Amino acid sequence: MTGIVVVGSINADLNLRVERHPGPGETLIGADGSVTPGGKGANQAVAARRLGAEVRMVGAVGDDAHAGAALSLLKECGVGVGTVSTSPGTPTGLAVVTVDEHGENTIVVVPGANTTVDAAAVGAHAALLEDADIVVLQGETPRSGIEAAARLCGGRVILHPAPVVELDAEVLHRADPLVVNEHEAGLVLGLLAPGKDVPEDAGDMLQALRRAGIGSLVLTLGGEGALVLPAGATEVVPVPASPVAAVDTTGAGDAFIGALAAHLLGSDDLVEAARFAARVGAFAVRSEGAQPSYPYMTDDLPGPT
Ligand code: ADP
Repeated sequence: MTGIVVVGSINADLNLRVERHPGPGETLIGADGSVTPGGKGANQAVAARRLGAEVRMVGAVGDDAHAGAALSLLKECGVGVGTVSTSPGTPTGLAVVTVDEHGENTIVVVPGANTTVDAAAVGAHAALLEDADIVVLQGETPRSGIEAAARLCGGRVILHPAPVVELDAEVLHRADPLVVNEHEAGLVLGLLAPGKDVPEDAGDMLQALRRAGIGSLVLTLGGEGALVLPAGATEVVPVPASPVAAVDTTGAGDAFIGALAAHLLGSDDLVEAARFAARVGAFAVRSEGAQPSYPYMTDDLPGPT
């Protein structure tokens, strides 16, 4: 087996600071202008690798100047990027993140090369996926590629459908676990049980997803922690958040998922894995950015409550 394979998005984030967001037709002077690595797939791969897991990334970048920045931290921590292709004539995925002085942000994402990660591109790595212990998937690459990866995976599929794309029920049922926030949980329920009322209570949502055929589930609740419904269990288990002073929550969900995958490589206990992942998510909110805020194995994680 070959550890973790993340199939997903790789972006460069262009970070801008403004006093206020511009109106239509308006030009403002901003600050920062740094280009940092991002994309849910890449974030999750870096999080898992820094925690000691063997990780390979299947994805794509363009042949432009942003590709280097997008891949920089993946390479630095030793994620296998030999399986990342370069799409000629296509821009690297770009997220333009504008933050005003109140901390409110607007984000424009240009998917660029991420749109090439389709069934054919994923199928080229069939042997790797069949051999993987864990395949981690999100919603920022084409549906056909996500579905192909879930079907080819010979091990466990961790599925984080963000954004929620319409996926075959059979693919959603492969998730072990499905990791969603409350908003995503409601949308996935809509896909699996169209027309049915979505419960308001988060625990009830997990039970409804279970009835709709999802075996194991994790629902993340930001500063409130997470809820876990392991395969075979009937009771939802709450996992508290570690109390920390949050500086920047960008990428906390991706840190959580990378950590969950890294922990599940060595143990099948989903509740324990979620407890560990919550501490890693809390570590990540204590400093700025996504990937740069993720811990290494040697870092002290904030304690559980
Ligand atoms: P997403 O960004 O995908 O919605 P969340 O914001 O729920 O994900 O964050 C994922 C996990 O990170 C949470 O379940 C929690 O354990 C941890 N986390 C997020 N925000 C905080 C916070 N402010 N304090 C402590 N832990 C946090």
